[in-house]
Amino acid sequence: MERESINFDVLIVGGGPAGLSCAIKLMQAAKERNKEIEVALIEKGAEIGSHALSGAVLNPMALATLIPDYKEKGCPIEADVREDEFYFLTKDKAYKSPKTPKYMHNSGFHIISSSKLCKWLADIAEGMGVNIFPGFAGVEVLFKEDGKTITGVRTGDKGLDKDGGKKESFEPGIDLLAKATVFAEGAKGSLVESIAEKLNLFDKNMPQVFETGIKEVIELGEDNYFKTSKGNDIHTLGYPLGLNTVGGGFIYEMKNNRAALGIIIGLCYEDCELDIYDEFIKFKKHPLVANIIKGGKVIAQGARTVCTGGYYAMPKLAVDGGAIIGGSAGFQNAPGLKGIHLSMYSGMIAADAIIEAIEQDDCSASSLNLYKELFEKSPAKTEIYEGRNFAQAISKKGISKFLHLGTQYFTKGKGLKDPMPLEPDYKTLTDKSKSRVKKEKHKYDDSLYVDKMTGVFLSKALHREDQPCHLIIHDTKICVTTCYKTYNCPCVRFCPGGVYELKTDANGGEPQLSVNFSNCLHCKTCEIKDPYQNIKWTCPEGGEGPGYTVL
Ligand code: SF4
Repeated sequence: MERESINFDVLIVGGGPAGLSCAIKLMQAAKERNKEIEVALIEKGAEIGSHALSGAVLNPMALATLIPDYKEKGCPIEADVREDEFYFLTKDKAYKSPKTPKYMHNSGFHIISSSKLCKWLADIAEGMGVNIFPGFAGVEVLFKEDGKTITGVRTGDKGLDKDGGKKESFEPGIDLLAKATVFAEGAKGSLVESIAEKLNLFDKNMPQVFETGIKEVIELGEDNYFKTSKGNDIHTLGYPLGLNTVGGGFIYEMKNNRAALGIIIGLCYEDCELDIYDEFIKFKKHPLVANIIKGGKVIAQGARTVCTGGYYAMPKLAVDGGAIIGGSAGFQNAPGLKGIHLSMYSGMIAADAIIEAIEQDDCSASSLNLYKELFEKSPAKTEIYEGRNFAQAISKKGISKFLHLGTQYFTKGKGLKDPMPLEPDYKTLTDKSKSRVKKEKHKYDDSLYVDKMTGVFLSKALHREDQPCHLIIHDTKICVTTCYKTYNCPCVRFCPGGVYELKTDANGGEPQLSVNFSNCLHCKTCEIKDPYQNIKWTCPEGGEGPGYTVL
């Protein structure tokens, strides 16, 4: 098939904070050096920001370096953190901690919507001459004949029918070629996954660790909780998750009488009957949370995974012809529950290395490794390094969790074992007979408490039905035989989009797994948590998926 190809100096895959910061820094650096540079950025969402979801509290350290007058330039800040509050929840009570853990001191930081921040950054990047192409999904990494030097990315074909045949509207994908390709796809990026083995990107002994978050934006009344409360950055531990399931809740003030609220659950959980959405609703119904959001109405919902594995789980940052930045590379302060500033910072230092490499006409791994060198000397490294064993420690059960966390707290992350390995998330489920999850029948009111399908509607997720299913199940027999019998098909419960559905046969035949791919929120939980590694998430047609605007 004839394909168009377009050449750039730098191609960035992903229009999140990391990719956009990289683009802006490249343009700034080129201008300082009096050089012309052609930078392109592709984003699989229909708009910049439509797949961006985060809590989010933003430490402005990277933003203030990249755009010192960000406030004057209209950076969309929802609120400044006045005071942090940290609670331990039991089923009916909330105990306020007299102290907030040191990593979660957010006073003076900004509460933002990741989606809005990305749109604002994209406008700045575009104004500086970056070519931004939303609605284009990168589906294949292109290499030189040597098989190891990256030359660019092929975008997905558009207009295929469900059997892969060409419809009248068919448009072949384009080969976007560049001297340096930057992967900024976020956690569990599909292109990075596709080249991981070939380029030996990850240390197999230190698997990446993931958490899935469900977030909502709630419209509150005029006379709401934040009008009188000093604390507007609230974090919780405990109920509904208990001590042996990693995770917690957050509630942040937003402007115009809105609140951002969510739960994050570590995907190292063991109980196969745990339903992530169900836990989210339990969290919202806790008296502390219910009081804050009373009288409100959900206006947006979405979900995404985040990497929390820390320093030892990071991939190679530079390869021949390419660099990996942001969530794709595990830039996250796990104990502080913040990553946007680190993602932005990674994009900026990658840009410093790339501009130098382009000037030297050498985008080999050894030249681009300047990015890694800059990282090793940076404050970002200090933050990530201190959290290097955190996710591993909180996954421990009982008293040993507190022993590890306590010693890490006083030894700058070293703790009792350094490095502390952890099993990959897909290996941690236990047999359904061991489940201790108490099912609750929730009452939904279609306003403040919405069911999963209404949540999907509020995510504005859309996929054209007549296209190949982007969720590939390698062996459907495993689902209804082995997985159903052992784990009762956990995909039905860990998918926040209700994509997987177990259809039982009224005549007593074997149940069937149905895949409603059009509901997919692109969170990637299924690819990570499926105990048989039987699900592969691939990019659907560009421009599809959720349509976040305020998350
Ligand atoms: Fe997330 Fe997978 Fe469900 Fe899509 S199908 S919403 S990626 S868990």
